[in-house]
Amino acid sequence: MDFLRPTTWREALAAKAERPGALPLQGGTDVMVEINFDVRRPEALLDLTGVAELREWSVAGGVCRLGAGVTYATVIDELGGALPGLAQAARTVGSPQIRNRGTVGGNLGAASPAGDSHPPLLAAGAAVEVESRERGIRTIPADAFYLGVKRSALEPDELIRAVRVPVAAGPQYFSKVGTRNAMVIAVCSFALALHPQERRVGTGIGSAAPTPLRAPEAEDFLSGELDWDAGGPSPSGRPAKGLDAGLLRRFGELCAAAAAPIDDVRGTAAYRRHAVAVMARRTLTWAWDDHRGRRAA
Ligand SMILES: Cc1cc2nc3c(=O)[nH]c(=O)nc-3n(C[C@H](O)[C@H](O)[C@H](O)COP(=O)(O)OP(=O)(O)OC[C@H]3O[C@@H](n4cnc5c(N)ncnc54)[C@H](O)[C@@H]3O)c2cc1C
Repeated sequence: MDFLRPTTWREALAAKAERPGALPLQGGTDVMVEINFDVRRPEALLDLTGVAELREWSVAGGVCRLGAGVTYATVIDELGGALPGLAQAARTVGSPQIRNRGTVGGNLGAASPAGDSHPPLLAAGAAVEVESRERGIRTIPADAFYLGVKRSALEPDELIRAVRVPVAAGPQYFSKVGTRNAMVIAVCSFALALHPQERRVGTGIGSAAPTPLRAPEAEDFLSGELDWDAGGPSPSGRPAKGLDAGLLRRFGELCAAAAAPIDDVRGTAAYRRHAVAVMARRTLTWAWDDHRGRRAA
């Protein structure tokens, strides 16, 4: 197996153009497992860890651009304020070792329906920046990126360069069901983002369909029903103003209806649908309390 180690993005694109069969390697936390278990035997590995720019992030015009090699540890340490949903999801990934090596770009590259970055990226309205030497840059909205189980819109000669995520202008929450709290693949997961300036709600569902996906009907319903001008703290344990039990229930039902889960070793389809509805109601309650608190402050 050949080992290619570019040190610039231009070299990386050239290597991918000349060897489309070369498998990109970032943190290696998916790739090395697959190689060790003989699931994959690529003709070459394209090690991107020498391309320094991929490890950088920046904010401009209200959008955070995360290089494909930004690790979960960096997201947690440096981006909790700008990207709270993604940072919450990052905290649930694997163990400290995995969070130090594993990257958001690698999660996108793997495109597993259970990947934890996907729901918050969908809810926030992120877009994936990909590039090839011959065809240049394409920016793919997250909800058009996932095509099937571990299949994405990435072409064989393309690499993921970055992901662009709007800086949070409202509360964001992530919730994950697993058999324990750490080192666990999601049985299912859910992310919610409130976009108060646009009076819009974003959702992301993980591990409950062949791809991560949004719940557009639930988003439209909630965006129209929420009393966005509501303010003041809510008495603890009580539904926040504007969130009556019927609205919460309906939102949960619409999110569950958007999922298309299967029975597998981690859970049944029925359990996943139920859990998606529960997480949708919970994250909405947390986010709405935050929204009202911010307005009251
Ligand atoms: C013990 C353990 C626990 C884990 N726990 C979790 C968890 O809780 N949640 C979770 O979501 N995941 C988990 N994972 C999976 C893995 O850590 C994540 O998917 C991680 O984000 C992969 O990132 P990476 O940088 O290591 O990717 P890599 O393994 O380097 O690459 C992953 C895939 O992306 C492709 N790729 C990488 N970079 C690029 C690029 N720039 N352009 C195009 N393609 C690219 C690779 O070719 C490969 O197909 C776990 C893995 C292990 C081993």
